Amino acid sequence: MTVDTTVTVRVPAKVNLQLAVGPRREDGFHDLVNVFHAVSLFDEVTVKRASPCRQSPSEGVGRDDPPGEPEESAFAGMSVGGDLGSHLSRVPLDSSNLAARAVNLLAERTGRGFPVTVHLDKDIPVAGGMAGGSADAAAALLACDRLWGCDLPAGVLTEYAADLGSDVPFALLGATAVGRGRGEILRPLPSPGRFRWVFALSPRGLSTAEVFAEYDRVRPDAPEPRLDDALVDALAEGDPVALGAALTNDLQDAALSLLPELGRTLRTGTDEGALGALVSGSGPTCAFLVGGDDDEATERETAVVAALESSGSCERVVRAWGDVPGATVL
Ligand code: ATP
Repeated sequence: MTVDTTVTVRVPAKVNLQLAVGPRREDGFHDLVNVFHAVSLFDEVTVKRASPCRQSPSEGVGRDDPPGEPEESAFAGMSVGGDLGSHLSRVPLDSSNLAARAVNLLAERTGRGFPVTVHLDKDIPVAGGMAGGSADAAAALLACDRLWGCDLPAGVLTEYAADLGSDVPFALLGATAVGRGRGEILRPLPSPGRFRWVFALSPRGLSTAEVFAEYDRVRPDAPEPRLDDALVDALAEGDPVALGAALTNDLQDAALSLLPELGRTLRTGTDEGALGALVSGSGPTCAFLVGGDDDEATERETAVVAALESSGSCERVVRAWGDVPGATVL
């Protein structure tokens, strides 16, 4: 029998079509209505059996352990690559990386893990409001589940994913879904259409915690969040014009207050006819809906991309479409 020594999982970024944020709860979290939409910007996460001198966590540790990792860790090291320029230097390569935490969590819960190294091939902007770290965590969970032969039911993986972070379960599920609670209680939303997006990447990152803190400051009276029926209808009908009009993000004002230059980026896209524009999640990536599957959408996309590229207001402009499936073993 051949035993796999490597598993690669491809995982998408998300944009939030609606992000409604309630008041701060006593546990510090916020109740959310969070409409996730998976788009075709992907990270690929490869987990690989670590060198044989390392032993399994239950047997102790070999001599070539990287310095600084705890003795019982199934995570044996990380590398990162991709075409994201300065963004890559923001990715931690130690056990604080969300993908490394996913490896260790699965090993602890199942008792099955042997040591692995993790390689992240990143296309999802880092600290960009597109849940790149959460996506990598979901991918690492699924990859180790297969490599270690756990083959856990989807429900159990989703439960572990929620323990890693509010956005991690959606990265396993993909497509379009509404998340409630902290965003981790998911219900798929029917979305038969194909939507084309342009994303403007910022040279800066924004900390999700700082954006929420700013939100609490500017919106101390936030109402309970409610799912927008117009958005649900637009998705079900695959209507890009109605969807563009329904896009909302309660965190946008807070992100703009921390990075006012995002206002110019958003205006650049809407002036060129984008059907909708918003800051993605906690930002600073700006998302522009440019249409469905038609020639008009292609023209609009070309115009929006050209205007953003020549505006000097963003670092990079990328095209993508949604929705797409969640984490998938390659
Ligand atoms: P979200 O949309 O969920 O708020 P984000 O897309 O804004 O997240 P991430 O790309 O997940 O942000 O990165 C946030 C921070 O998390 C980074 O600054 C980085 O220090 C840390 N981090 C931990 N693991 C990863 C990872 N696998 N990839 C990228 N960043 C990671």
